[in-house]
Amino acid sequence: MKRRDFILKSLITGLGLTYSGNLALAGALPGDKRLSILHTNDMHSRIDPFPDDGGRNANQGGMTKLANLVSRIRTEEDSLLLLDAGDVFQGTPYFNFYGGELEFKLMSKMGYDASTIGNHEFDNGLEGILAQLPNAQFSHICSNYDFSKTILQDKILPYEIFRKNGIKVGVFGLGIELDGLVGKKNYGNTLYLDPVSIAEEMVSELKSKKCDLIICLSHLGYSYRSGKIDDLKLASAVSGIDLILGGHTHTFLDEPTRVVNAEGFDTIVHQVGTGALRLGKVDFVFSKDNKVKLASVRSLPIY
Ligand SMILES: [Zn+2]
Repeated sequence: MKRRDFILKSLITGLGLTYSGNLALAGALPGDKRLSILHTNDMHSRIDPFPDDGGRNANQGGMTKLANLVSRIRTEEDSLLLLDAGDVFQGTPYFNFYGGELEFKLMSKMGYDASTIGNHEFDNGLEGILAQLPNAQFSHICSNYDFSKTILQDKILPYEIFRKNGIKVGVFGLGIELDGLVGKKNYGNTLYLDPVSIAEEMVSELKSKKCDLIICLSHLGYSYRSGKIDDLKLASAVSGIDLILGGHTHTFLDEPTRVVNAEGFDTIVHQVGTGALRLGKVDFVFSKDNKVKLASVRSLPIY
């Protein structure tokens, strides 16, 4: 496979710095197209900021503050996708009382385009997911859970193609192995399929549909010392995924990890912790013929 001309420019926005709008992307030419991907993971029902208890995260994070930041960015970017990598549910009394209704309604208001399914989405069983789906005005995408023998049949998409600013963006999702992590009664007849072979299928499907950019929403986890599949191993094993937006391990990456695999394919892996403490922002510049020229990745603090 031919190595693409791909430059990753990583910019770290440390805690305490304010979001200062768009950075001029060096190398962009007139006629180039922009696309920004905003992403979260493991928000864990954190609607309000963390409590004022003197802890490290006191008064920071939470979906209400996230909503302010997203609406500010929307005034500055005309071409945006807002994505989540799972575990929206569980973590505060809001989930215990309302079962995820507030989370999905808030995400809908923020204009989320899609989320994947984290292990905690199963905390109220398949029925708990089904009951909340009408509150989500965005897609749920997961490619390696086969829900065909469950009440979620046809409710979860294996992938979706978004068209933004003339760019075709293919998004698929990967969930973690449920056995041993989620009670059998909560996931019922959901079948877990091998993430690597499913990712290969998704890449070829999305390439055949002429996607210019392929994004994986992953709830596999960033990295494990064991042989268990994770985002870094996925990027090494499968060529063709431009961006892996991860979750599950609650990893705060100050800068993304760039994986160039044995075939020379370049993948950006990013993850932004938990509790809506950070928002990931990946700015792409595409040439006139829809080839990625530049990517700038940031992790914006939410406070
Ligand atoms: Zn989580």
